[in-house]
Amino acid sequence: MTLRFDNRVVVVTGAGAGLGKQYAILFGSRGAKVVVNDLGGHWNGEGKSTNAADIVVDEIKQAGGTAVADYNSVVDGNKIIETAIKNFGRIDVLVNNAGILRDKSIVNISDDDWDKIQDVHLKGSFATTRAAWPYFKKQKFGRIIMTTSTSGLYGNFGQANYSAAKLGLVGLMNTVSIEGAKYDIRCNTICPTAASRMTKGILPDEVFDEMKPELIAPVVVYLCHEDTQETGQIIESSCGYATKYHYVRGPGSLIRDSINEVPTPEAVRAKWSKITDMSKAKHYDSNVEVSAEYIGVLQKLKNPS
Ligand code: NAD
Repeated sequence: MTLRFDNRVVVVTGAGAGLGKQYAILFGSRGAKVVVNDLGGHWNGEGKSTNAADIVVDEIKQAGGTAVADYNSVVDGNKIIETAIKNFGRIDVLVNNAGILRDKSIVNISDDDWDKIQDVHLKGSFATTRAAWPYFKKQKFGRIIMTTSTSGLYGNFGQANYSAAKLGLVGLMNTVSIEGAKYDIRCNTICPTAASRMTKGILPDEVFDEMKPELIAPVVVYLCHEDTQETGQIIESSCGYATKYHYVRGPGSLIRDSINEVPTPEAVRAKWSKITDMSKAKHYDSNVEVSAEYIGVLQKLKNPS
């Protein structure tokens, strides 16, 4: 069965170019009413223009779809959600995609380089999500996408500000997906790698043209469908390929022998290979499960058998 979005209102931030543009076009072709948000500035966050969003709105309309432009910065996330409500009366899907870069090695990052990156990526995604939340909660339905990066998940030289913001978005998703569960508000994170003005000169020239952003759009659209129950997941996608990413925790080791003992640095050294042994590592879905492990540790110390 075709995955349709008729009667659904979708907000895509940073939809005037690159990945966001392809998301907006695919949503539009599936019947969604799309808010094409884009500040229309430079990739480093300077300037603004209405062109980027307008061109994508025209493209969606020419293909028979419904779309409206929004030129606000994601930092004013409430205004973007207002555009959806004012024009279409509701919001069902929020794709937090807008982004900029200020690449520098750690010692050269100015306060402004740090703040602008956190503002657009992390605060912007928070601002839109908080503004959409009451509508999602009331209608007991919502789909949210956060956008992380391999630079956040794995690190990348010269991107400390960006890496921090991008991994912050995973933290935001982790809690939002827990808070939204009982209202059918699902939140997942896409980790894309695609050709765009942002990655020109970063991705290898010989594969750049092949790494089309439209190859990632179906993953985002699938995650936002009402039938998709997945939540709290990170999905990496590039080149017409997708895979789940998650972090795991090893079984660990006690570093003291009794409940009255305080561990020493030498005890940590002695147990280091066990502390770092990941051969039986597993994923935990919430910190409740981790707390249960700690209670187990205390019980083991109090009742050694
Ligand atoms: P892009 O520069 O082509 O698109 C980003 C869009 O966001 C631009 O159109 C820009 O005008 C808009 N934007 C910037 N600041 C904004 C703001 N304050 N408010 C509203 N709109 C704003 O880049 P892209 O490669 O398509 O990146 C899209 C997202 O994917 C970003 O969050 C980026 O960090 C992330 N990402 C991209 C890649 C990749 O390989 N392209 C990899 C990892 C993560």
